[in-house]
Amino acid sequence: MEMKTLEESCERAGIPPFGQLVGEEFSFTSEHPTNLQVNVGYRCNLACTHCFLDCGPMRDECMSRETMEDVLRAFAKHGFRVLDITGGSPEMNPNIEWFIDEAAKIGHVIVRSNFAILEDPNYAHMIDVYDRNNVELFVSMSCSEEPTVDKVRGKGSYKKICSAWRKLNERGYARDPEKVIDVLFTPAGESLAPDQAKLEPTYKTNIKNIEDCELTHLYCSTNVAVGRYGDRLEREGRLDEYQRKLYDNFNPDATRNLMCAYQMNVDYDGRIYECDSYHALGADPAMPQTIGELADMDSIPSRRINFTPVCLTCAAGAGSGCSGNTVC
Ligand code: SF4
Ligand code: SF4
Repeated sequence: MEMKTLEESCERAGIPPFGQLVGEEFSFTSEHPTNLQVNVGYRCNLACTHCFLDCGPMRDECMSRETMEDVLRAFAKHGFRVLDITGGSPEMNPNIEWFIDEAAKIGHVIVRSNFAILEDPNYAHMIDVYDRNNVELFVSMSCSEEPTVDKVRGKGSYKKICSAWRKLNERGYARDPEKVIDVLFTPAGESLAPDQAKLEPTYKTNIKNIEDCELTHLYCSTNVAVGRYGDRLEREGRLDEYQRKLYDNFNPDATRNLMCAYQMNVDYDGRIYECDSYHALGADPAMPQTIGELADMDSIPSRRINFTPVCLTCAAGAGSGCSGNTVC
C-alpha cells in the first residue's frame, strides 16, 4: 500500500483532507512526548495475513546495537516515560536482552510480543527478561477461536500463544499489579474498533474459561488500511468503501488525543516517523529525521502534524491507536 493509493481513494470517495477536520489546537505535537516507540526489526517467527509491515521469518532488517544506544540516549535525555518496543518479533533481535535491561533502568518498558515465540526453546528465556524488568507486555489476540487465529497467524500458533500466556500468568503476569498483560483486539473485517470498556469483561471471562489465560487490560483498535490488510482491501475493490466508512464515523473528540501528538516512532534503521502507520507507508520522516539527531538535540520542538488520509483511522468512532480507543 502506498500513500498515493490512499489519497486517490479518498479523492474518489469525496473525502476532504484530514487536516481540514482537525481543530488548530490539536494539530501540533507535544514538546514533551511521553512515548518512544521503537521497531527493533522485521524478522518474525510468524507471517500473519494482517501484518502491516509484512514481517516474517525471511526478513532480516534488524536494529543495530549502535542505533539502540542512540535510542537509550534519547530516552534518557528527553524525559520520555515509556519505551515501547515492537517488531517483527522483538525477541529475534540479538541485542534485545541487553536493550531491555538498559531501558528498564531509565523508564517503563513495553514489549509487543506475539507470545508464540516464547514457546521456542531459543527464546523461552525472554520470559525471565520480562519478569525481572517488570516489562509490560502487549499481545494481539482478537478472538478465542483456534481455527480463526491459526488462519490469520499460521497453523499451531493459537496453542503456542495460549501456552506461553499461561506461563506468564504463573510468573505473576496479570495477577501482580506490576506485571501487566494488555491484549490488543482488532475487529475482523471492516468494522470499527468496539468500545473496549464494554468488551473487556466478556473477553476476560471467555479467555479464562476457554484457555485459562488471564489479562490485565483489553484495548481495541481499528484496522489501518496499510500493509497486507490495505493491499487486500485494494485488491478486492473495497478500499474506497472502507475509507468512506472511517470518514462517516469521524469523531472530533478523537482528535484531541491523537497518538502522534505524544509519541514518536523509530524504525530499525533509526529513522523517525509520526507513527507506526506512517512508518509502514514509508512517509517522509518526521523532524528530527533520525534517533541520533534526536539524541543530540537539547530539546524537542513542537511541530505541525503532517496529516494524510491514513489519519481517518485514528479519529473514527471511539478513536484508535497502538494503545486502543482514544476516547474513553
Ligand atoms: S506477529 Fe506481529 S509482527 Fe509478526 S507477522 Fe504477525 S502481525 Fe506481523
Ligand atoms: S495516522 Fe499517525 S499521523 Fe495520522 S493521526 Fe494517526 S497517529 Fe497521527
